[in-house]
Amino acid sequence: MEHDNEFLCRHCSQRAAGAPHGTRHRNHCPACLWSLHVDRRPGDRRHDCHGAMEPIAVWVRRDGEWSLVHRCQQCGELRANRVAGDDSAVALISLAVRAIATPPFPLEHLSRLDGP
Ligand SMILES: [Zn+2]
Ligand SMILES: [Zn+2]
Repeated sequence: MEHDNEFLCRHCSQRAAGAPHGTRHRNHCPACLWSLHVDRRPGDRRHDCHGAMEPIAVWVRRDGEWSLVHRCQQCGELRANRVAGDDSAVALISLAVRAIATPPFPLEHLSRLDGP
């Protein structure tokens, strides 16, 4: 049975404490960053979708704070969630550089932009 203030990740089976520093509610796994579609408002656990939410991007807020963008695999809803203090730095960085690592055009095209 899942304890109320504990988070058991359905994606990677990692178990994590419920309330890390910097956030009131843990809504995603600190190891793989996947989430569950259970909240209508942050922390209310009142959504009945319960789909797995894939971390698809990092969004930098105006104040410089990072947020994760999650997409529900079941209903397709997009949601932004604050990064927690104990989130895996490696997982966050690899998500953040994913777009740069797989550009939709050949990188040589960039040199034309600052050409003679
Ligand atoms: Zn996980
Ligand atoms: Zn959903």
